[in-house]
Amino acid sequence: MKCLIDDCQEDAGQLWKGKSYCATHYDEVMSKDFEKEWSCWGDNMQPSHRFLYLCGRYINECKWKVINGSITGARLHDRAYNFLKDDAGFTFEITRHPGAFKDDFNPSYEVRRIVQKWKVSIKDGIAEFIEDRPWTIDDPDP
Ligand SMILES: [Zn+2]
Repeated sequence: MKCLIDDCQEDAGQLWKGKSYCATHYDEVMSKDFEKEWSCWGDNMQPSHRFLYLCGRYINECKWKVINGSITGARLHDRAYNFLKDDAGFTFEITRHPGAFKDDFNPSYEVRRIVQKWKVSIKDGIAEFIEDRPWTIDDPDP
């Protein structure tokens, strides 16, 4: 099957919204969609689900480089919060459970929670772990 874009002679290998495109045009329709969602994200708002879904695809398809830690598209899409937009991208936080531990003073196993902060630079295509902090009762644990 050929790419759906007129005059394109390439073989279609990628699906976008149920339509087949070559790799080049797939990237094109995807980034158009992304740009639209990005421009709809107003100040002091949280991003749309569609935007987060697209971010997840960028991560899962390795179009964005994940550095300094690990995160999957699904986790970003389903579990991230406290999104803050800036000119170059955005930051977000996510609650992680680095494993149960046994406290000396409390011999029962407890779930340990930390909050990781991540920064995404859209132009550079980089998702980077910045820092973590202790989880507090005010933080979500989705
Ligand atoms: Zn094409």
